Amino acid sequence: MHGSGAEISREVFWNIVGPGFPTEQVVLYVLALGAFLLFFRGLAKSGFFTRLKVAANAKGTEVDRLNGPWDRFWYMVIDVFGHRKILREPYQGVFHFLIFWGFIALLITTAIVFLQADFIYPIWHVWFMKDGFYLGLSLFADVFGGLLIIGILMALARRYVIKPKWLDEKGEDNVILWFILAIVVTGFIVEALRIQATEVDPTSPMNPYIWFSPVGRTIAFLFSGMSEAALRDTHVVMWWTHVLGALGFIVFIAYSKLIHIFMTPVNIFLRPETPQPALKAMPPEMFENAETFGIHNIEEFSWKDIVDGEACMRCGRCVEVCPAFGTDKPLKPRDVIQDMRTYVSEKAKLAVDADGKYHIIPDEEYTGPALIGDGISKDTIWACTTCMACVEACPAYILQFPKLIELRRYMVMMESDFPAEVLDVFKGMENNSNPWSIGAHMRADWAKDLDVPVLSEKGEAEYLFYVGCAGAFDDLNKKVAVSLAKLFKAAGLDFAILGTEEGCCGDSAKKIGNEYVYQALAMANIETFNAYNVSKIITMCPHGYNTLKYDYKDLGGNYDVYHYTEILDKLIKQGKITLKQPVPELGTMTYHDSCYLGRYNNVYKQPRDILKSLNSGPVVEMASHHAKSFCCGAGGGRMWMEEDLGTRINQKRTNE
Ligand code: SF4
Ligand code: SF4
Repeated sequence: MHGSGAEISREVFWNIVGPGFPTEQVVLYVLALGAFLLFFRGLAKSGFFTRLKVAANAKGTEVDRLNGPWDRFWYMVIDVFGHRKILREPYQGVFHFLIFWGFIALLITTAIVFLQADFIYPIWHVWFMKDGFYLGLSLFADVFGGLLIIGILMALARRYVIKPKWLDEKGEDNVILWFILAIVVTGFIVEALRIQATEVDPTSPMNPYIWFSPVGRTIAFLFSGMSEAALRDTHVVMWWTHVLGALGFIVFIAYSKLIHIFMTPVNIFLRPETPQPALKAMPPEMFENAETFGIHNIEEFSWKDIVDGEACMRCGRCVEVCPAFGTDKPLKPRDVIQDMRTYVSEKAKLAVDADGKYHIIPDEEYTGPALIGDGISKDTIWACTTCMACVEACPAYILQFPKLIELRRYMVMMESDFPAEVLDVFKGMENNSNPWSIGAHMRADWAKDLDVPVLSEKGEAEYLFYVGCAGAFDDLNKKVAVSLAKLFKAAGLDFAILGTEEGCCGDSAKKIGNEYVYQALAMANIETFNAYNVSKIITMCPHGYNTLKYDYKDLGGNYDVYHYTEILDKLIKQGKITLKQPVPELGTMTYHDSCYLGRYNNVYKQPRDILKSLNSGPVVEMASHHAKSFCCGAGGGRMWMEEDLGTRINQKRTNE
């Protein structure tokens, strides 16, 4: 007997387990045990454990992702249960939220029923699943089960009707949705058959409470003409169909992307501490000791890079926002992660012995497909603008593009394999400390006749105005440098420039993969900054801003770095810069969120406040703005490369 005899309750295993020995119940538990064993066998067969073994033996730079474990834990809990990132996309966010919470609710309900019928009642003869608690539980399970079905239908509509072009087309994605739908629908049919047989009769003590199972009750109308015998027979068939489906689903998880149910929360726990993607400088001593630079073998990635592959749910959010994909380049960040995962699996088959021991395969013994070229195409590697849209969008906190930069490092520093047009850029940086190869002695020409203070003459200043290569050499940007110098002077700011002592920040070299040139440029600047005891720096270019603020720290350069918009905004708000009269000819204004200022550094408000303070034309937003801003196409060194695949990224942005 799996019921207390309480009037407001239900018999667990109604119509399944009869009096006497509970054979069906035992069969159920044997099957459940088998499903869990098959789940672990599935993990082994799908290479999950061997991939983790490769991760454990990975040689890449150590990353510490276990500091502050409690903070990480609570962040993960809020993120997973609150869908912090997933809900940023309304349609996908809502259906995932409904499916997720529907699943959780049904899991909780199943656990309570299991606890009641298989532990508490058999051991202590206590039946707590009754009266108000039972009715509440029944309503809870029905409502959330119904919401789960709505979520699945929305997901199916996206797959079959909306069909966004960035959606993955794998067969298992369809199977997952239909599988879940079948399990939930058969569950409701089982409930409806029981309700029709035991609760619809007005003399049933449960009849007044029948609508506490709103979905089951509604479906029960379909069975209203059936005899009790037919109801019972159909119920048995549907019950076993439902149970076998649910157990089969447990096994299926191990073979499908559903493993993300476990691995995505793990990856959220292991997330990077700042939104700054970890693209660590190579330790300078590596240039003397290391035999190879960058990455061309999967084991050369860090363990975290490999774990990222396990957490990727192939949701495609990173593809949707990728400007390279959006302009028909052969780059889908999701596929980079998935291709790496496939590559790890293939390599793991060779790297793990029959007895389970891992050994690294020397390059000369490895004859399989190459990671660069075969696994991930070179066009894919060069298409990235490092805009960080993928990282920002990824609900699993995966760092996609830093992996591409590691591959570029190998290609550039080991193989001299890079787009031909970049060669002159490297030469310019090495010989004249600017990518245009303009004589370094002309770096301060923009400031001629402006009486801009120079540190070598002034000795010290509160702020170093680091102009950067664009401000020093590009005609359009020179005008910005001139205007800024005039504004700083008008506001009485204590600042100075380095003049011809300034060097290229090295951002493009770093992102193209030439860490050697980057570090040479960065170290030269750091030495100069330190010689003048520089502590506060104002930059013009968002790339220089990010490089000086974060990347130089890896090389010992620690400074308070500000973008000029932060300084101007402050000076305006302090009343040190005032606009005498509006400038109506400016017309309608908009602001392009640079990737390196916005997504990388969260500077969104100050530039807009400056525009508004002009008190001139209206300030409007483009279709993509703030964290969803669309890249200009010049980052990641793409500024210096031909864009001969697809359409131009800057054209698409300009059209907006
Ligand atoms: S990398 Fe992240 S955003 Fe891209 S498909 Fe995987 S989980 Fe989704
Ligand atoms: S950083 Fe930007 S361009 Fe590169 S893969 Fe990510 S979204 Fe695409």
